Amino acid sequence: MSRITIDDVTKRFGDTTAVDGVSLDIDDGEILGVVGPSGCGKTTTLRTLAGFETPTSGRVLFDGDDVTHRPPETRNVGLVFQSYALFENMTVRQNVEFGPKMQGVSGDERRERATDLLSMLGIPELADRDPATLSGGQRQRVGLARALAIEPHILLLDEPMTGLDAKLKTRLREEVGDLLSELDVTALYVTHDQVEAMEMCDSIAVMNDGQVEQVGTPREVYESPASSFVSEFVSLDVPDFAFVDGAP
Ligand code: ATP
Repeated sequence: MSRITIDDVTKRFGDTTAVDGVSLDIDDGEILGVVGPSGCGKTTTLRTLAGFETPTSGRVLFDGDDVTHRPPETRNVGLVFQSYALFENMTVRQNVEFGPKMQGVSGDERRERATDLLSMLGIPELADRDPATLSGGQRQRVGLARALAIEPHILLLDEPMTGLDAKLKTRLREEVGDLLSELDVTALYVTHDQVEAMEMCDSIAVMNDGQVEQVGTPREVYESPASSFVSEFVSLDVPDFAFVDGAP
């Protein structure tokens, strides 16, 4: 995993400025949540990290290395999307082993990584199943295992819990949050759900209209909002949120 820098990135689509001078640092092993209302530029920010969008200006650095103009397949990023399709013609294990196989990782090592990840995610018994037979939550875990199997510089998650029922979301939030911390994963976590971000992330960037209004720990953002926008945005969505002792 790596330290990631987004340095003064602007991305325009025609007359629309989707991302407007955003600078963010993600430390090695840190999970940064990006929250904000629909259309504020969360996904575009994530896509510039993945290499699916080239910034109009600004730079993206992985461990100090400028990757701004490098294509996605050379960046070694793990992607987890809400509807990230699994390869339906492969078993769960083959899905998880696919990325490392493309990277030229040996068969033994691939099998070991897949076995370990499926165990860590609590789904070792699903290894030989076809994706079509899995529930939404199971598919999400396989998607996560597949993204982690390539040992990415950074894991990019875009609304990964959308579409799951509330109970499952709560459980996955805890389990996946713990797992990501345990594995020391560097991650960018895009969500419109503040509670999700506060529970799972080490720090949170609140975006508004293409710009970052505040970056801080969940507690800082919640207790000391830097602007009325942050205050309204955070408090509206988490009226009952309480910090437990030891929360960041
Ligand atoms: P949501 O929470 O609804 O997914 P978001 O915060 O992820 O929103 P983005 O998807 O990054 O927001 O979009 C930011 C702005 O850029 C929006 O106004 C959107 O319409 C615009 N935009 C994004 N991608 C494109 C594109 N390929 N072409 C034109 N405009 C785009």
